Amino acid sequence: MAKVLCVLYDDPVDGPPSGYARDGLPHLERYPGGQTLPTPGGIDFTPGELLGSVSGELGLRRFLEGQGHTLVVTSDKDGADSEFDRELADADVVISQPFWPAYLTAERFAKARNLKLAVTAGIGSDHVDLDAAIAHGVTVAEVTYCNSISVAEHVVMMILGLVRNYLPSYHWILDGGWNIADCVARSYDVEGMHVGTVAAGRIGLAVLRRLAPFDTHLHYTDRHRLPAEVERELNLTFHPSAQDMVPHCDVVTINAPLHPETENLFDEALIGSMKRGAYLINTARARICDRDAVVRALESGQLAGYAGDVWYPQPAPADHPWRSMPHHGMTPHISGSTLSAQARYAAGTREILESWLSGAPIRDEYLIVDGGKLAGTGAHSYSVTAR
Ligand code: NDP
Repeated sequence: MAKVLCVLYDDPVDGPPSGYARDGLPHLERYPGGQTLPTPGGIDFTPGELLGSVSGELGLRRFLEGQGHTLVVTSDKDGADSEFDRELADADVVISQPFWPAYLTAERFAKARNLKLAVTAGIGSDHVDLDAAIAHGVTVAEVTYCNSISVAEHVVMMILGLVRNYLPSYHWILDGGWNIADCVARSYDVEGMHVGTVAAGRIGLAVLRRLAPFDTHLHYTDRHRLPAEVERELNLTFHPSAQDMVPHCDVVTINAPLHPETENLFDEALIGSMKRGAYLINTARARICDRDAVVRALESGQLAGYAGDVWYPQPAPADHPWRSMPHHGMTPHISGSTLSAQARYAAGTREILESWLSGAPIRDEYLIVDGGKLAGTGAHSYSVTAR
């Protein structure tokens, strides 16, 4: 019997919701591009309910305990005396979400002698030391596509929010004011702007598709080029590198995984090569940007705005400089954890567990590391330091 250790974010401050703003969720047939939504044998939750916090348990308890397995759920994840650290010693499976990541470091892998499977209930397994997972023969899987469109929508919202100066204008209303000049002195139209994405995978391409109707000029860079018909359809300009692309852009959105090639990519030099007054949106991973270079660029006016939902570490400490820098539109890490996305990644996590517990193969598109090497989606999108 397996011990499953699940790390989830805390419940709302007033406790689990007693009701919801809407009844149910829209029905989706499949993801763009044709991949099917998660296909577990069954689910024990109501889609549209809060599943990603401790009381929601990703809807897994009845399923796991019904088969005789043990489920431990905690939000206490950091430090050597955390519940996560204590329970890890004999856990077979760890589940965690990027929004509230249980950092699986090389030291933790060394302690977790039973660990065989690390599941990311979401997308982005950079909180797992993939070199260590490979060395210890641990399978790493994530629920590919579960929240890609959720994030793309958040990116579009943040681009519009920054360019049109939405949040400061909203604050004038909260403060009882009507200061139109203060609101519009930093407000522009997106129409006609050059918008570029670093990476045009599921999220990056979805952002491009959603921005095309705004009559923007669209740019991208990626390790692999998109099909020619997609480039034509969206009138895309391809650039061989971020260095080549960003000087042309008024808005840059980062949609690449964090791995050794992308870590610290947006440093002082790259940000300095952007147009003065460009906007930078990063919903990918915080460490793709140099934290202090972002702050300096906002203070100097090199960047007109920065927004995103990814921080390092997570949760961000109260004195993290991105909380107080000028002209930012940061949120906590929420873009991929809408109630809509939670239903998909809870079902996907259940599908992965059902496969693994029954000895059936995990869907290739969910795999990041398997059999001691990068596999599936991981082999395509990630790199490790050892390679
Ligand atoms: P995909 O795997 O579909 O796309 C990632 C793309 O990044 C691929 O096209 C890949 O290229 C490309 N890429 C990898 N390395 C580089 C590089 N060095 N330069 C340029 N392009 C590169 O992933 P998603 O679009 O679904 O997600 C992207 C990232 O967004 C995730 O890894 C995660 O970090 C983040 N994310 C954030 C969420 C949030 O809640 N804020 C939720 C979900 C994801 P190729 O495949 O061509 O090699």
